Amino acid sequence: MLPIEKGTPVVEYDGPRFSKDEADERYKDRFITYLFSTGNGGEVIDGFGTAMFLNHCCEPNCETENIDGRIWVVATRDIAPGEELTYEYNLHDSDDDDADCYCGTAKCRGTMFSDDEVKRRARKARKQAAKA
Ligand SMILES: [Zn+2]
Repeated sequence: MLPIEKGTPVVEYDGPRFSKDEADERYKDRFITYLFSTGNGGEVIDGFGTAMFLNHCCEPNCETENIDGRIWVVATRDIAPGEELTYEYNLHDSDDDDADCYCGTAKCRGTMFSDDEVKRRARKARKQAAKA
């Protein structure tokens, strides 16, 4: 088997698309979802296919890229045969209490939230602490 070359679109994050509001309504009682925010006016993709099984890692070998409106998982370096494909989830806009990361890499941030979301949560926690 050959390695996957850096820059190769490996797998598409595909599935039905609808609004974040509709997703909230559909999955309000569901603990696990495979929603992917496209960054396009609150649109989400309800993952259906291989890409939904890719795990988060703080030192990933892929990143997601919007190519002509389609979301692809693209190799950010050469990937050896048999190596697990991973990308940064950069979770945001989530009601989840936590999204701890246990990827175990040297660069592990301990969370699957985006940097912005980590800051937003810290601000919120400080405000709540100030009220108490
Ligand atoms: Zn990690």
